[in-house]
Amino acid sequence: MQILDGNAVRAEILARLKPRIQNLRRPPGLAVILVGHDPASEIYVRGKIKACAELGIFSEKITPPESISTDELLAVVNKLNHRPDIDGILVQMPLPRQIDSRRILESVAPDKDADGFHPINVGHLVAGRPAPRACTPAGVIEMLKHYRVPMDGRRAVVVGRSDIVGKPMAMMLLHENATVTICHSRTWNLEEECHRADLLIAALGRPGFITGDFIAPGATVVDVGQSRIQDREAAERFGKLAEFDRKGFILVGDVHPVEVAQRASAYTPVPGGVGPLTIAMLMSNTVDLAENHQACSA
Ligand code: NAP
Repeated sequence: MQILDGNAVRAEILARLKPRIQNLRRPPGLAVILVGHDPASEIYVRGKIKACAELGIFSEKITPPESISTDELLAVVNKLNHRPDIDGILVQMPLPRQIDSRRILESVAPDKDADGFHPINVGHLVAGRPAPRACTPAGVIEMLKHYRVPMDGRRAVVVGRSDIVGKPMAMMLLHENATVTICHSRTWNLEEECHRADLLIAALGRPGFITGDFIAPGATVVDVGQSRIQDREAAERFGKLAEFDRKGFILVGDVHPVEVAQRASAYTPVPGGVGPLTIAMLMSNTVDLAENHQACSA
């Protein structure tokens, strides 16, 4: 049984980016827009800014007030769209309720879309053309390639069909020639579908939902889920009581951490699996965008 270590893959991705950044005429620039003070978003943004600093990517955090209107936020994005020192723009989700999130995401110039969420870039992904790609599923593909997990011709089952994980994940696996099934909350007999998978990707946001019965012996299991558990009994069920007593909470994925270890041939742990790859791929998208901009202006 092999543990797929996201930190090792992250280190490799970042090491590959460093010489590319040094070869650029000016540092890549990433603008991060964080509206309001959502605590989880603040942590994510801090991680992104820190990764930029470590790599020599210029970053700028823009923090409009919680009360900003859609039109005002559109103006912020528009200004960044025209700045030559900014290669990538990221709008941290979720946005406050009064904001039309879709309009904001669609207002980011597709050639500065660091998250790969713009419909034009989603279209490029479907068409198999190079473009910024959603970071979390792109990180999963990097991880599978790093560990030489076979995808070609294999049965891959993706549980979850969100725009940011499930759908792009399925499309990327299809481009790797996997035979892909997408499951969701309306799927009949989810357990049977999952059990047919050589490669099972769980991205449903239900802690520990995928138990041993869902996993074919010898399958590779990728757990995208990340939930913070503050209930001691649940921590005990997940075999993480000692960790809970030390920290007062545990992080659990969508796959039962004890049962996956008994059934899978390889799996990603939580934490330390898919999590570290999302920011690495954001850095990778930003460097790609900077290279494109500098090639265009050469
Ligand atoms: P989401 O937008 O809530 O989507 C969840 C998907 O799972 C939906 O398609 C939903 O189906 C499906 N689903 C929910 N309950 C189900 C069930 N009982 N059976 C089958 N399918 C079910 O979530 P998301 O943004 O994709 O995120 C999924 C998980 O990944 C979360 O735990 C999130 O925290 C984590 N995540 C981690 C990273 C990272 O960096 N590691 C990044 C992004 C997300 P319907 O469409 O039918 O409702």
